[in-house]
Amino acid sequence: KTFVDFPLSPNTIKGLKASGYSKPTDIQKESLMLALAGKDILGAAQTGSGKTLAFIIPILEKLFCKQWTHLDGLGALVITPTRELAYQIFETLRRVGVHHNFSAGLIIGGKDLKFERKRIDQCNIMISTPGRLLQHMDENPLFDAVNLQILVLDEADRCLDMGFQQTMNAIIAHLPVKRQTMLFSATQTKSVKDLARLSLKDPCYISV
Ligand code: AMP
Repeated sequence: KTFVDFPLSPNTIKGLKASGYSKPTDIQKESLMLALAGKDILGAAQTGSGKTLAFIIPILEKLFCKQWTHLDGLGALVITPTRELAYQIFETLRRVGVHHNFSAGLIIGGKDLKFERKRIDQCNIMISTPGRLLQHMDENPLFDAVNLQILVLDEADRCLDMGFQQTMNAIIAHLPVKRQTMLFSATQTKSVKDLARLSLKDPCYISV
């Protein structure tokens, strides 16, 4: 099977091709149809498995096949443990999404809070690290995620190992309950299971 065999928009197919992706990896094969159908996903997957595209493709499809505009605000939020991972996800999103029309923002600290806040107000897809994101949510009473469609918790075990359990719980409490959530984790510890129970609804379990 190649990406062309999946029900993806021509713009996504073009972006995948131009980035050199033709055949989905195992995690992508297993999760794509479920994610496109709007299911919550608990993915047991390591870095290197291709999990980034496993969530980027459904984000692009869900938001942009519905003609998401800047007026619809924040549609997808990805939370990842480190700045480096956030950059990588952001770059992949930009490459694969080059034929889609959206605004993406990195909220990872290291920049002025005011500058980041402006980006938040403008972006449809946000890639962020947990501490900085919660700081914005706490300090900006107007932080608006009412139209959020998709939440991705990337490398959840690492986020928890870094001490972000309370932070993640608080972030999730700020988000609309009606949303699709994808949680990826290399290990399935008790704290990952607790987070899964808190954040996912009737998830499909995928292990590669
Ligand atoms: P990830 O696990 O998402 O960090 O991806 C690991 C590496 O696999 C990255 O360098 C990706 O560019 C690459 N990759 C992801 N999906 C595919 C694919 N379908 N075909 C070829 N390479 C891929």
